[in-house]
Amino acid sequence: MTDLTLLGLGDMGAALARTWLAAGRSLTVWNRTPARAEPFGDAAVATAAEAVAASRLIVVCLLDDASVGAALADVDLTGKDVVNLTTSTPAQARARAEWARERGARFLDGGIMAVPPMIGGPEAYIFYSGSRELFDLHADVLAVPAGTKYVGEDPGYAALHDVALLCAMNGMFGGVAHAFALIRNEDIAPTAFAPLLADWLKAMADVAHLHADQLESGDYRKGVVSNLAMQVAGIPTLLDTTKDQGVSPELLTPYLSLMRRRLSEGHGDEDTVGIVDLLTQPKVPA
Ligand code: NDP
Repeated sequence: MTDLTLLGLGDMGAALARTWLAAGRSLTVWNRTPARAEPFGDAAVATAAEAVAASRLIVVCLLDDASVGAALADVDLTGKDVVNLTTSTPAQARARAEWARERGARFLDGGIMAVPPMIGGPEAYIFYSGSRELFDLHADVLAVPAGTKYVGEDPGYAALHDVALLCAMNGMFGGVAHAFALIRNEDIAPTAFAPLLADWLKAMADVAHLHADQLESGDYRKGVVSNLAMQVAGIPTLLDTTKDQGVSPELLTPYLSLMRRRLSEGHGDEDTVGIVDLLTQPKVPA
């Protein structure tokens, strides 16, 4: 038996595999297309079933949830500890946990917060959720490629944390795109502007802590620095400048519309955190 088996040697899987081998762990690997497994020499086996049989701990890093189902459809998972690092939705992760349970396996889901070159470095980490017992048992092995953050017994929570951070990141990328569009046709070098932009975003990032505190207390006036009324009063400056620069407002207007709606509902003295209330719909039962 080897210390662990890894299914999937795409860009991410291969990066994970290299860190385990470098750390002296014995590894069995499998990839649907054998050529990608060649660099791993004797560690590679021909079928997913052989790979699963070779270890108790099975780490899966395939393209998407459907590929996990396809790769393991006819494989005996009885008594195995399955750690699925394939990106999925919370609903898919919960269904996959049930699927593993029905096959006699324990299940832990993971969401990788890194790109392949970061694996093995200090900034990479992986969210885990599902069986705490399984997480504790394999904590040493799981900590080799990236830091570990266990976020709960609900197998959907790792994916939910992953997606929440990615959504926030997309919002930030949208803001960065709008800012560069504003200066594009001016005598301002993007490389001169970038440090100012990056430092400003970092300085503003602590809003996450302020809003978390407001959400938990239910007091949206708590610690407010720039209230909603003041921020809505500034909207014409943002939109007029955008128009004058010949820039489309389409990235900006959805958020500004929510600010205006919240103000119209009488929350001008609160922080903008009340937008969370506008966005939140009752959860659809699974
Ligand atoms: P790649 O596209 O490089 O590799 C995909 C892997 O999935 C390959 O091993 C491929 O096999 C396999 N695969 C696809 N479909 C099937 C199938 N039907 N049956 C069996 N195997 C299949 O992706 P990555 O390695 O980059 O990503 C793997 C996971 O890691 C994804 O869920 C991704 O979201 C996640 N991730 C990736 C990040 C990144 O930056 N790359 C960042 C964070 C998470 P084959 O070689 O035969 O095609």
